This record gives sequence, structure tokens and C-alpha cells, in this order.
Amino acid sequence: MADYLKPLPIADLDSQPFWARCKAHELSAQRCGDCQKFRWPPQAFCPHCYSWKFDWTKLGATGTVASFVVVHYVSIPAFQEDVPYVVAHITLDGTDQQITMISNVIECPWEQVRVGMPVRVVFDDVTADVTLPKFRPA
Ligand SMILES: [Zn+2]
Repeated sequence: MADYLKPLPIADLDSQPFWARCKAHELSAQRCGDCQKFRWPPQAFCPHCYSWKFDWTKLGATGTVASFVVVHYVSIPAFQEDVPYVVAHITLDGTDQQITMISNVIECPWEQVRVGMPVRVVFDDVTADVTLPKFRPA
């Protein structure tokens, strides 16, 4: 883990609770304290009603592939051993399709990934400080 060379997310004031919960192997999102809609990505105010109130809500572990691309050529050398790999939009179950997360589909040949495919989160502890939520076929 000490020689992890891939770019990593940099938590900010809004996203830090999300990344901390990923470290604890839990998916979560902000939910508006006024209109109750989910906010994604984490942000200071609600994009639906502009409220500043929110709570962090634990999410389920499953979702659906909404779209995806297969990366065959890398621009960052650290990803060379991973190609081909899948980058997907994952719509999370239980969020009324309000949360679509960008992540990887893993543990599945890229030729078998399909739009509409049910997936389940897998937490990848890539460094001592960072855990990335990825998805595998459910
Ligand atoms: Zn709202």
C-alpha cells in the first residue's frame, strides 16, 4: 500500500464524512433536512430546494449499472496493469434514483458488464487512509 501511485480522492469539508464512512465500509449520503431528497455529490446546500440543512443517511449496498465505458488505453501509467477496466455510473438502490455514483465494476470480465446489471458495493482499502467504493455483480 505504501507505493500506491494512482490518484486518490481528496476529501473536503463537504465530502469528508462520506470518505470516513467508506473507511468504515459503509455507503452514505447527505439527505436534505427540508425536502428530504438526497444530495449527490456531497455539497453545502440542497440543489433541489437550496436548504442548508442535512443529515448523513446510511445507504444500502446495492445498485444498478446505469451506463459504463471500458478503458483500454491509459493516460496515467499507474493504471497500465488494470486495462481493460470498467468505469460506470451506478444508480444506488433506495435513493429514488437520486444518487448515481461513478465507480468501477470489478470481479467481472468487462465483456459481461451490461446497463441494468445489478451490482453490490465492495470496499477497496487502497491505502491506510483511503477506501474506495467499487461494485461487483450482485
Ligand atoms: Zn432540499
